[in-house]
Amino acid sequence: MLKIAFIAHDRKKDEMVNFVTAYEHVFVGHQLYSTGTTGQRIMEVTNLSIHRYMSGPLGGDQQIGSMVATDELDLIIFLRDPLMAQPHEPDITALLRLCDVYGIPVATNIATAEILVKAIDRGDFAWRELVHKYKPGVDE
Ligand code: PGA
Repeated sequence: MLKIAFIAHDRKKDEMVNFVTAYEHVFVGHQLYSTGTTGQRIMEVTNLSIHRYMSGPLGGDQQIGSMVATDELDLIIFLRDPLMAQPHEPDITALLRLCDVYGIPVATNIATAEILVKAIDRGDFAWRELVHKYKPGVDE
């Protein structure tokens, strides 16, 4: 079982809902997290149970970032809007940075999300071992 988080900016929420609905059978076996509105939208149309954090602009990205920093998250689907400035841009950058620090797969567009969900469906979780092998130390 993986711990997976969903975040979608406003103009990407329909895309996220359609994506998660299409792969509900894959996500159902995992522990799911999201920012506030994204999770609400997904739960309205699926039977998935999602732990919702705050809305992104109100700190939700940072809450998910804290899960990354404490090794409590395995994968993030983050459909961000590349054509619209976001008020919480620093939080977005911080979250993506933490994913790179800790080697957490993060899909920022639907094409990458498709590849990741198919890996999940195959039970291809080998990246976790690699990530732990190169885990950053405090002196680095
Ligand atoms: P939301 O947050 O799911 O609460 O809309 C996502 C965001 O816009 O960062």
